[in-house]
This record gives sequence, structure tokens and C-alpha cells, in this order.
Amino acid sequence: MIVEKPIGIIVDDDFTSGHIPPYPKPSFISFENPLRIKAILNHLERIQIFSHKRIVNVKPKEILEATLELAHSKYHIETIKRISKMGGGLLDDEVFLTEDTFNLAKKAIGGAIEAIEGVIGNKYSQSLALIRPPGHHAIREKASGLCIFNNIANSILYLREKLDFHENIAIIDIDNHFGDGLAQYFYDDPTVLYFSIHEFDFTEGDLGLMNELGIDEGIGKNINFPVPEGITNDDFLYCLELIDPILKKFKPALIIVAAGFDMYYADPIGNCLLTSITYFQFAKKIMRIAENLCEGKIAFILEGGYDIIGLPYCIEAIIKALLNERYDPPEFEDNLSFLNDSKRNELEKIKTILKSLLNPYWGSF
Ligand SMILES: [Zn+2]
Repeated sequence: MIVEKPIGIIVDDDFTSGHIPPYPKPSFISFENPLRIKAILNHLERIQIFSHKRIVNVKPKEILEATLELAHSKYHIETIKRISKMGGGLLDDEVFLTEDTFNLAKKAIGGAIEAIEGVIGNKYSQSLALIRPPGHHAIREKASGLCIFNNIANSILYLREKLDFHENIAIIDIDNHFGDGLAQYFYDDPTVLYFSIHEFDFTEGDLGLMNELGIDEGIGKNINFPVPEGITNDDFLYCLELIDPILKKFKPALIIVAAGFDMYYADPIGNCLLTSITYFQFAKKIMRIAENLCEGKIAFILEGGYDIIGLPYCIEAIIKALLNERYDPPEFEDNLSFLNDSKRNELEKIKTILKSLLNPYWGSF
């Protein structure tokens, strides 16, 4: 009989209390707040996820400050530390710091490392890191877009440099926003494939366009699927089909999901129209791919997702898919008027262009 390994859920109470935005009333930065994790944990307790025999609840790995230097400049690390020590402040319109930000952001990296190292080391079959602040916009020298340190990039560089893990890694970024930070870290790296589906401003122009394909040895390994606002469940799953044949050729030893949930229809800073069932279907699909390619090794690392009513259900949907159990969406998601809307015509055009751009690197598919 095969003994199933546990699924690791990595979280810490500090994520439910620290790094509180300075404005209590809705503003962009106010949405990245402790209630996100609090609401998730309340829900997971209510549905008794933590007493499930396959779930283990684990704290982030304790990491040294030097670990941050794998992904960030000393100047950036020192800046975050110094401003936190002074009591916090605003770095720009989209980054706030409080007195505990440095420690919490460091702990978030420890959470991502625990999730990823645990899957690679066969401690967990899959993992889910419920961490904040998010990370996918942060770059080596700078915090950006609510992100302080780049949790996923830091974890990958830790795998590479401290654990001697050099096999291929695929990142699938489903956050509503383009993970410009993550893309930058691995833009010339042939061993890390970055695939992102994100809302894109086709009128004004934006980063995250299709022709950002990577450079040098990494060319063809940065794959952006920009989508117009208002995509719905079927549209999202349609976009995702693109990655399947590419992953088969890339043969990752690990899949990391940059798990943002701000494409959720009620999200205050995303403009797409997904409901929680899509995250269930997404996770099931990625599980099937991972089982075929890399012994099911997937780590989900929380990025955005700011609707505190819907977010807990999206997380439940992911966990139920990992457990291979049924997921029942909440009643408030029934009969939503937009569910049958579709951006399919626009998406077909984008997919055709993207396929032709990728053809030199991946052949026809
Ligand atoms: Zn986002």
C-alpha cells in the first residue's frame, strides 16, 4: 500500500497581526492586511481542515538574514530593516512599512522556503504557504506593489545555492497582476520557466506583453499570457491549456504556483471575474500535470488576493483539490449574472499570436 505523504500548510500567527497598513479606510495599500490570513484561518478551522489526517500545519523555516542576500541587495535589505526600526513609513504609493515589516517579510520568505524545500525533500507531497506580505513584484534592489522581498525568487535561489538543487523549475503565476519581479530574476535562466496569466492594459500598454520571451539562454522560458479585464472561469481555463504541452517538453522537477487570488470577481484591485470553483479546477489540472511530470511536486505560495470573503473559499478550493476531495462553492457564488460572459474571441487571438512567438522555442503545439 502506498502511504500518502502529508500536505504541508505553512502559516504563522504573526501573519494575522503584523504589517498593518497605515490607512484603515479603503485605499490601494489598505487591502494587504492581516485580515486576509485571519479570514483564511478562521475558515479552515471552521471546516476542520487542520484535523484532516493528511494535513500538517507547519511554521515557516527560521532563516538567517544572510539568506535574504541570495535574492536582494544589501542596500534593499538594510533599507527595509532601517525604516522598520524607525517605526515604518511609506516607500511609495504602493509600499508601506511598519515597525514589524522587516521581521514579517523575512518570515514570509521562511514560509516559502519551508513549502518548497519540504516538497523537494519529500516531507510533503504538496504544500501551501499562507504568507504575507506577497512577493512577486519585488526585485533585487527594491520593494514594489505591496511586495517587500521576493519570496519565491528567494526560495529558488536558496534551492540552487544552499541545497544544490539544479533541476528545472516551472513557476505558474496566476495572480491578477504580472509578476514583473519574478520575471526579472529568471529572464535569462534556462532552468526556470515563468508562465504568467495576468490582466493587461491593452490601451495604455504595460509590462507583461507576449513578446517578453526571455533573453540569451533563457529565451522562450518567459511566457506571458496577457488577458483583458473581465475574463471568466472558462476563459481562464482556456488560457491555461497553453502551458500543458510546454511543460511536457520542459520537464520540471518542481512546479511552484505564485498563487494570487485577485482575479476573483469580488477582488477590490483586480478586474477579472473568476469564482472559487476555477481555483479548484486549476489546482486539479496542475496536480494531473505534476503527477505525470514530477511526482506531483507542487508548492503553492500565496501572493495577492484581497477579498476577505472570497479568499478563504479560494484557498479551501485549492486544498480540496490537493486532497482529491469534493469542493462545494459557497451559495453566494450561485447564479452570478456574468458567469456565462466570455472574452473567448479576444483570447483566441492572443493565444494564436503567443503560439507563433513560442514556436521557434517549443515547436508547434
Ligand atoms: Zn496581484
